[in-house]
Amino acid sequence: MKFSELEKLCKGKIQQQANEAEIKELVTDTRNISIRAGLLFFAIEGINHDGHEFVTEAYEKGARCFVVEREVSLPDDANVLEVRQSLLALQMIARAHRLQFDYPVIGVTGSNGKTIVKEWLTQLLDYKYSIVKSPKSYNSQLGVPLSVWQMTAQHNLGIFEAGISERSEMERLERIIQPTLGIFTNIGEAHNAGFESLQQKADEKAKLFASCQKVIFSSEYPEIRRALEATVSEETELIAWSFEKLEGHQFKVLVGETELVLKLKFSDPASVENAIHCVVMLYVLGFGMDVIQSRVDTLNSVKMRLEMKQAVNRSYVIDDTYNNDLHGLEVALDFLHRQNQKKKKTVILSDLYQTGLSGEALYARIDDLMRNQQISRFIGVGMEISKARGLFHTKAEFYDSTDDFLSSDFSIQDEIVLVKGARDFQFERVVQKLEYKAHGTILEINMESLTNNLNYYRAKLRPEVKLMVMVKAFAYGGGNFEIANLLQFHKVDYLGVAYADEAVELRRGGIHIPIMVMNPSSDSFRLLKEYNLEPEIYSLDQLLDFMDFFEAEDHMPPIHIKLETGMNRLGFKANELKRLTEILTLNKKLKVRSVFSHLAGSEDPRHEDYTKQQAQKFESMSEEIFKVLWYKPLRHLCNTAGIDNYPNYHYDMVRLGIGLYGFDPVMDEEKKLSTVGTLKTHVSQVKAINKGETVGYGRLGFAQRDMKIATVPIGYADGYLRAFGNGVGKMNVGGKLVPTVGNICMDMTMLDVTDMEVRSGEEVVIFGENPSIHDLASWIHTIPYEILTNISQRVKRTYISG
Ligand SMILES: *Cc1c(COP(=O)(O)O)cnc(C)c1O
Repeated sequence: MKFSELEKLCKGKIQQQANEAEIKELVTDTRNISIRAGLLFFAIEGINHDGHEFVTEAYEKGARCFVVEREVSLPDDANVLEVRQSLLALQMIARAHRLQFDYPVIGVTGSNGKTIVKEWLTQLLDYKYSIVKSPKSYNSQLGVPLSVWQMTAQHNLGIFEAGISERSEMERLERIIQPTLGIFTNIGEAHNAGFESLQQKADEKAKLFASCQKVIFSSEYPEIRRALEATVSEETELIAWSFEKLEGHQFKVLVGETELVLKLKFSDPASVENAIHCVVMLYVLGFGMDVIQSRVDTLNSVKMRLEMKQAVNRSYVIDDTYNNDLHGLEVALDFLHRQNQKKKKTVILSDLYQTGLSGEALYARIDDLMRNQQISRFIGVGMEISKARGLFHTKAEFYDSTDDFLSSDFSIQDEIVLVKGARDFQFERVVQKLEYKAHGTILEINMESLTNNLNYYRAKLRPEVKLMVMVKAFAYGGGNFEIANLLQFHKVDYLGVAYADEAVELRRGGIHIPIMVMNPSSDSFRLLKEYNLEPEIYSLDQLLDFMDFFEAEDHMPPIHIKLETGMNRLGFKANELKRLTEILTLNKKLKVRSVFSHLAGSEDPRHEDYTKQQAQKFESMSEEIFKVLWYKPLRHLCNTAGIDNYPNYHYDMVRLGIGLYGFDPVMDEEKKLSTVGTLKTHVSQVKAINKGETVGYGRLGFAQRDMKIATVPIGYADGYLRAFGNGVGKMNVGGKLVPTVGNICMDMTMLDVTDMEVRSGEEVVIFGENPSIHDLASWIHTIPYEILTNISQRVKRTYISG
């Protein structure tokens, strides 16, 4: 595609044209740009971010073609097209690109399972087809056109997913993907906000299939059938399936008149549904049952997201071992680039397949990416990549196979290692070697959910209101640097911690944004200065100590004054203000960065009057302070529930806490948040016991009948409180909630799995979607804050991200 063709295609107006450039790549985010020819940069206005502010950066990184919505100033050798809406232009370009190819394209939509179905179809079909697909879960108005743009003449099958959150979005995605075959995975409550009913949501999603030849869906969802019947063209064949579970792991699938019998290694309902969708698609594509079964036997569970795990020698590994296309590599490198915890970055990469580029062009491009992302060390594994060793300028080592690599004396220390390889390289063995082996319990933190939640609250703030995020108590249990790092990346204005030590750790981990320390003891004042931290000052005594400490110095750290307005915890009372303002007047070295207070009952409408009184006090007290200052410090009052309920009290900044982690004391708000933390473990052992036997310490678990007991490696030392014992707590095993039996031990818990098929090694969810932390909190009459912050540090944290 040529630059000048875009004018007509996008109904825009060329503002300046230096030459007739060939468009090779579309970019919307300067962080992903590596210097190469043919970049077309789209300046898109987002919620927190305006692409127009980055055009110069994009230019400096090599982009010479731009699509913008308003005038920008760029050097003469840039080509600039002005359009009404850059995102729309991107979509029109992708659509035009799509029209050049006439191989089959599978479109996937539905409430859940889109990414898994897409990845599984790829696993099943890639032995026969050269597949182009959406990387990760790129399924939005932005992700879809970028995915479709990757189609080339070398491919012969496309698989793209489409996700929507509002009405009218799907029509746009349909025009870009133009699927010839479709899978409508299911319909459920996920992301309900933009729709009035399930039916309306199904109707909207069905538009993806408006002119498909064939659409596959499960007859379990009447809404889907209704939606499809109302939407698709007359030529479209609707293929509904249903199934019956037989003995063992056998399933009988009915597709029209046809009966397919197959064996699946999965038994949870979601995996069964996803797998059957794929099986039916293979059947529709003309594969025989024996081939289908042998392909299905090779299915691996899909890691949906990038995972960052704690590794040996104070390192981290980013596990991306299931996927090896070029775009996926860029996404993973971008994720690696955002991690500031360690300076040293290593990439371990296998041969790449199906990129549509020749070997030389491909590996030169990879070297280019490595240099751009400042990778310290590159390790190539595979015959192809080893042949290309001459092309690499980054410090690099090469091995012909995974075995060769594993038997080398490779080691890691204080670094972040991205491990990314094609499936047949079995890089999970590499990850296993590097990862830190704690016992089997992990707290999985979903970084994408954190980001969603962050954006949810941001959208409630007036644009000029700053945001402080509280990461005290190990980021409410989630893990300090990793979360702070994400917040820094998303440009929050402040972090808040309880103690100076926590803040010091953050600074050492590469966090440079301002940090407020709420409880600075006098023996930590030195650290404040050394690490550029800002204390909360809540009493006259403390203020005097602080001033004494810095008496001999020219500068002291800026302070945040806490006012007592009704919480009756910490803070200056009204009658202390006179003395406080005297001190502020006399000591010009004291710099007040902010004045704040804390609400005692912002979540509860019964305390509305009290909250209003607190706010009035806060206003009048801060006025008194402002009177003696020649500058204006920030004012802030609201925590999570305050942000929701009291937009008038957002002042200059708000302090977001628990909401970020997916909980909101205001219930209606919580429904709109994403689940952040999942605590998981695996069954250590399953045993049968006879009626009359007892289980655990104190013999409290008494078998009223013959029972089957599963032991899991989590106990009160991990933060699973003793109160959960004797059936009070329940865990999720294979989709079912099962009660604890007997007392919780220090490191172990026993579960009742009588009448279930459970094997050792099977995954057990302690909390996540089901049961939720709320369930756990209500079982033992506490609040989510306590459940979260109780999880002990010995539980390994894993960070997953899209
Ligand atoms: C913890 C804390 C917050 C955040 O409270 P949430 O209810 O978790 O949002 C805000 N301000 C102060 C002073 C805090 O200590």
